[in-house]
Amino acid sequence: MTDKANSMAPQTAPGLPCPACGARIDIDVRELLIQDSFACPACGLTLDLDRKRSERALRAAEKVVVAMQEIDDLKKRWR
Ligand SMILES: [Zn+2]
Repeated sequence: MTDKANSMAPQTAPGLPCPACGARIDIDVRELLIQDSFACPACGLTLDLDRKRSERALRAAEKVVVAMQEIDDLKKRWR
């Protein structure tokens, strides 16, 4: 039994509250990079992403995706 492996995995998924109904909209960081809009699962409101205004956030998200891919590679090597 090993219990070290899971301690470093991030448990919080990125998301934001819906401006219309307040429900949490879960956003996959990888989807954020390829999609321009997200729909609220509770009320159906569509949020459009302004790519120019969000450029900094998107760059940060890109780094997160690269880091996650590196972690996946490391996991494969450790097997
Ligand atoms: Zn909503």
